[in-house]
Amino acid sequence: MNAFTYTPAKSLDQAVQLASRSQTAQQGADVRFVAGGTNLIDMMKLNVERPSVIVDINALPLDTIASTPNGGLTIGALARNSDVAHHAAVQRDYPVLSEALLSGASPQLRNMATTGGNLLQRTRCVYFRDTAHACNKREPGSGCAALAGFNRVHAILGTSEHCIASHPSDMAVAMRVLDATVETIKPDGTARNMPIAELHALPAETPHIETTLEHGELITAVTLPPAPAGRQIYRKVRDRASYAFAMVSVAAVLDIEGSVIKSGKMAFGGIGAKPWRDERAEPDLQGEADTRAADAFSAKVLANAKGHGSNDFKIPLTRRTIRAVLAQAAQGD
Ligand code: SF4
Repeated sequence: MNAFTYTPAKSLDQAVQLASRSQTAQQGADVRFVAGGTNLIDMMKLNVERPSVIVDINALPLDTIASTPNGGLTIGALARNSDVAHHAAVQRDYPVLSEALLSGASPQLRNMATTGGNLLQRTRCVYFRDTAHACNKREPGSGCAALAGFNRVHAILGTSEHCIASHPSDMAVAMRVLDATVETIKPDGTARNMPIAELHALPAETPHIETTLEHGELITAVTLPPAPAGRQIYRKVRDRASYAFAMVSVAAVLDIEGSVIKSGKMAFGGIGAKPWRDERAEPDLQGEADTRAADAFSAKVLANAKGHGSNDFKIPLTRRTIRAVLAQAAQGD
């Protein structure tokens, strides 16, 4: 058991200042914000997370879900996953987000897990969670046991020779296709807004650096633009029907008339080192929603996909899941 200080923050300024005081050479390794605790506490029990400073942010006024003046929706960082999934505006205007949230974890976990925490949850790579194994993400420079090990759940896109972990969030995949904006506050009190595409970092040579957040920077909200036109679908393929992470998931927004797509967007879970989307391929999501369109789009999305043995199946599985999403959209199911 590692000793740590625990401080409930009474204000945003206090929270980020408490966090920023605990500076270490390794980005953010020494301090953690805690909200629902559904990821951090698990990791501390496993001795994977060893913070010396914990700042509890549960008392901060960050749990509001409200309309924005331009017709979008802002979701406070402390809004619980259950509350977001069942919110009337989310179910009406952003069903892909509601479906993604309800496909993840269990009701008990969703009642505790927060929006900010969900975005920042860490990989389920078994070697990351077991300190007996080499892991560059947990111990930089130690190696990657997954490369030649059990890598069935690992990523096929955005990986590096240093880490092939997949990002586990369903919620973030839906937010990615909805073009969400992540709002933060820095330790000096300045606010920052960034497209969700810029929040998560690829592993490259530094897999221990998972986001572009600065030391002590706190997510305060996620804002969604006005509801996009068209059908929204979240399709998740996994080993069992509930309480399982995605092998492949697709969050889709398809503006479709009958079986003809006018425009489309898709983001992916389970296959990327971060919530994955390839906007360059999306112009192919036009015309008849058939296997030809699905396969043309898949070919571009998967052009750089690389399996590592046990997860090779994710390449054809992604292709088939894209076909299934287009068929579902065309059928109006
Ligand atoms: Fe660690 Fe990444 Fe390798 Fe898993 S895939 S063992 S998280 S370096």
